[in-house]
Amino acid sequence: MRNTADAVIIGGGVMGCSLLYYLARRGVGRPLLLERNVLGAGSTGRSQAICRMHYSNPITASMAWNSLQVYADFGEQVGGNSGFVKTGYLVVVEEIDRPSLELNISMQQELGINVGLISSDELRELAPMIETFQGEGLAWEPDSGYANPYLVTTSFAARARELGADIITRAEGTGIEISGGRVRAVLTDQGRVETPLAVVAAGPWANSLMDGVGVRFPLIPVRHQVALATRPPGTLPEHPIVGDIAQSFSFRPESPTLTMVGFGEDEAELDNYDEGIDQADAADAMTRLIRRMPGMDQSYYRGGWSGLFTTTPDWHPILDRVPGVEGLFCMVGFSGHGFKLAPAIGQAMSELVLDGQASSIDLSPLRFSRFEEDDLILSRYRYRVLA
Ligand SMILES: Cc1cc2nc3c(=O)[nH]c(=O)nc-3n(C[C@H](O)[C@H](O)[C@H](O)COP(=O)(O)OP(=O)(O)OC[C@H]3O[C@@H](n4cnc5c(N)ncnc54)[C@H](O)[C@@H]3O)c2cc1C
Repeated sequence: MRNTADAVIIGGGVMGCSLLYYLARRGVGRPLLLERNVLGAGSTGRSQAICRMHYSNPITASMAWNSLQVYADFGEQVGGNSGFVKTGYLVVVEEIDRPSLELNISMQQELGINVGLISSDELRELAPMIETFQGEGLAWEPDSGYANPYLVTTSFAARARELGADIITRAEGTGIEISGGRVRAVLTDQGRVETPLAVVAAGPWANSLMDGVGVRFPLIPVRHQVALATRPPGTLPEHPIVGDIAQSFSFRPESPTLTMVGFGEDEAELDNYDEGIDQADAADAMTRLIRRMPGMDQSYYRGGWSGLFTTTPDWHPILDRVPGVEGLFCMVGFSGHGFKLAPAIGQAMSELVLDGQASSIDLSPLRFSRFEEDDLILSRYRYRVLA
């Protein structure tokens, strides 16, 4: 391992790799990324990778919209392949949440995002396989879809390497060396790397790097389960992604014959949680799926996995300098939203690190101090991960 770098990123998920790419693109001599396992080994590799814009606040909706343009044109804009598949995204809310839905849609339309409220008759034209119920509110995002988190992460990494970045896997960051109030080096299990700039992108493990810094990120790992269900051959060749806020779960197509279902938000113990899925929870999710898409009553369950959302008190990330330490930055706490935001966040963080301020988007709503200032980014819904 080399012993100096212009900047060091700790963590090789989609966030670290996106930032590495944008730093390299800006001409930072030789940025270095350290990953203690393999790229995408954390939340990224388990992500449903749904890319949609329905949020209750303008900053997240804007970043999702900007990132969607990158995912949909990844070969041209970054290089490599994002695996993006455009399916359309349907939001469904109960009657009680219709005012929130309407507020969110008009906020998004003001931002120029291609979304709209639709009626159940219009939905029948767009997606006849989906069932709706009395009083429910519906919104449609025609441009949304899903991508492949492993392809995106490794494509960012490959392009960054071509632009001069270094990536070292199986290398663990063990601490940040600080003197005179600024970063001097990143310490690793393979030696010391002198650097003036360090970025913590270590997902739910971020606090393990903060021991000598005297700062704790308010992070809580939450387990989210993903199950795969077969689609009856020939009868359901395709369907859109559905963010079913009314039933607190989501699903998307995974292939012409498989549907991926996401459910559950249970606080979990870091490094000691069940990475499989609970049969009772999966059965319950299948019941909700069949209610929403009745053609799935002939489906059978094909296994699944669990992963961690790294949540903060408002379920939104911290994108900021680490207070009190010159040259130290953090991009942590993405809960269930991070994948879809990674291009916009990589770009904005590269601006913050190199220019002292993000210019592509105003990151101040996502500042670290918002928790002590009680200026949280709130959802208009009770089921937080879906908006
Ligand atoms: C089941 C599930 C479904 C999801 N679905 C969606 C979705 O549909 N859409 C969406 O937008 N988002 C979704 N998300 C959220 C999204 O996947 C995450 O927000 C995103 O992947 C976070 O990326 P990250 O790079 O911050 O973290 P991670 O991917 O966790 O990466 C952190 C990396 O840091 C490494 N690391 C940790 N400590 C150290 C150290 N000391 N030294 C070196 N390396 C270290 C880890 O090994 C890991 O690879 C989902 C998440 C889960 C778990």
